[in-house]
Amino acid sequence: MKMENLAVSTIKKKISIEHEKEGTYFTLPFSMPVDTESMTLTYQYASHTEKEKTIEAGSFVTKLQTSIIDLGLIAPDGRQVGASGSNKTEIYISENYATPGYKACALVPGEWQIIIGAYKIAAEGVEVTYTISFSKKYRRLFKGDLHIHTRASDGIFTVKELMERAQKLGLDFIAITDHNQMVSTDELPKIRGFSVIQGVEYTHFLGHSNFLGVDKPYEVPFVANTFDEVNARFHSAREHGALIVINHPFQEPCEFKFDMNELPFHCMEVWNGPMRESNLKAIGLWQKLLTEGKRIPISGGSDFHRDDVPFTFMGGPTTGVYAMSNSSQDILTALREGHAFISYAPKGPTIQITAGDAMMGDQVEWTKEKELQIDAANLAKGDILQIITATEKKTLLEAECDGSCHVSYSMQAPGFARIEIARVLIAGLPLLPVLISNPIYFV
Ligand SMILES: [Zn+2]
Ligand SMILES: [Zn+2]
Repeated sequence: MKMENLAVSTIKKKISIEHEKEGTYFTLPFSMPVDTESMTLTYQYASHTEKEKTIEAGSFVTKLQTSIIDLGLIAPDGRQVGASGSNKTEIYISENYATPGYKACALVPGEWQIIIGAYKIAAEGVEVTYTISFSKKYRRLFKGDLHIHTRASDGIFTVKELMERAQKLGLDFIAITDHNQMVSTDELPKIRGFSVIQGVEYTHFLGHSNFLGVDKPYEVPFVANTFDEVNARFHSAREHGALIVINHPFQEPCEFKFDMNELPFHCMEVWNGPMRESNLKAIGLWQKLLTEGKRIPISGGSDFHRDDVPFTFMGGPTTGVYAMSNSSQDILTALREGHAFISYAPKGPTIQITAGDAMMGDQVEWTKEKELQIDAANLAKGDILQIITATEKKTLLEAECDGSCHVSYSMQAPGFARIEIARVLIAGLPLLPVLISNPIYFV
């Protein structure tokens, strides 16, 4: 897998506006490159004329506003992205955040239009220079918490409070998953560089499930009294484009009692809140399904509600996702593709597993020569790094001190291979996982 450097390309557009155009609106087209993560547009023109006059005691400079140019932006589908009069000379837009007056939106490739409002134009005309910089998407690690409650259900914090806390912890995204409460992206606060994934924890007496990434997974109320009605909610969520996660399958008293084989879903939450018996059982079930040949990507979340629940904290666990950007859709796509691992805390261990161009979640053709390359960081002295396949659980490293490592492993036959890092978190307690990766699949 290639990790490219952040690529920024810049274009400049100059336009001369004659005085006769004063009082009219027109547009200037520009082309949005593919895979643009964010854009910054600035514009400059001579807004004032200065004249120096000699007076008895020296000189006096008159400053007269001669040109005023308003700004706005139109997307390829004709939608108004924003307008800002003449007071802003720089605007920023990405999928997560935009300068006030503009809408955070996907920067779809195609022809965009700058709105030019010729409010006032100097008698001799004016030249305006627009500079547009595009940052290209590239795959890198983002960390977040995919299961969080707010005041809208049984949590105690607002979305804004949770976002600020997450940023302080070094997280790049959170998912809002209130019980049977949908949330619309338009209502969510926005912070530059940070992403909030809208979601709902579909909560039924017989099981919980997160529907992520859409405003409305179903058009009807959540209420369901038969399996067919539950099934209809899941199918509707899938058709609306939601990423479906089966939550905490063994956590009493809200175990997942439906037959998952009968429901459409994408991921399994094998790690919910602090590592304990119910999570170890979920990991055991996942291992069994992998051994049977199923490919189910993992998801993790703290299920954070409030501060007074022992061992529960935001980012415990943290899901690390190798995504093309930290927009909701890019994170969910990477999660669905299995390009992710779960770590016990925001500053817990991280991992990357590759085989040639493939990374965790990918399928790669097996040959005896093709080795698995494993890079782990934020290890603590005594950490045990294990490789797990359908037939083997083997320790590849015991950390001699805090640090990072690179190890490799040869698959003896096709199949899946995944990594777990175990640690003694509290003296006297047994080793527990502090990191779990998705597998690479050799075929
Ligand atoms: Zn739940
Ligand atoms: Zn929950």
